[in-house]
Amino acid sequence: MKLLKKLLNKHALLICIALYATILYIIGIGCPIRAFFGVPCPTCGMTRAIIKLFSLDIFGAFECHLLFPLAIIALIILIYAKKPFLGSKKREKYFWTVIIIAFLLYYILRLIFVRNSIFYIDTYNSMLLQLINTIRGVVE
Ligand SMILES: [Zn+2]
Repeated sequence: MKLLKKLLNKHALLICIALYATILYIIGIGCPIRAFFGVPCPTCGMTRAIIKLFSLDIFGAFECHLLFPLAIIALIILIYAKKPFLGSKKREKYFWTVIIIAFLLYYILRLIFVRNSIFYIDTYNSMLLQLINTIRGVVE
């Protein structure tokens, strides 16, 4: 029982991510941020990249999200590395800042240059626009 509790504590983040991805897959909305706002999020394509990685389609995984290896490394460090993992809290902060900046830069570049079946803007079918139209319909 103690071992099970220890394993659950250590892997709670992984279990949450797996549950989250499974629920989104079952519901069929894909990215919840794109479903609501009509705009993709910085991690759009990450789940597909991981799935392609499991089926050994490395190039396909990179096509889905170029930074998936960085996300995997960050997740492993977050779960398994002793704190502070680079010897000091200051270095650890720099590391996470670099990771976040890399994701934001890649996100901005994708917003400007990439349009495909994984990364697209669809505000017309967003829940937010439907909600606004519903409220307008009630008010008018
Ligand atoms: Zn997304």
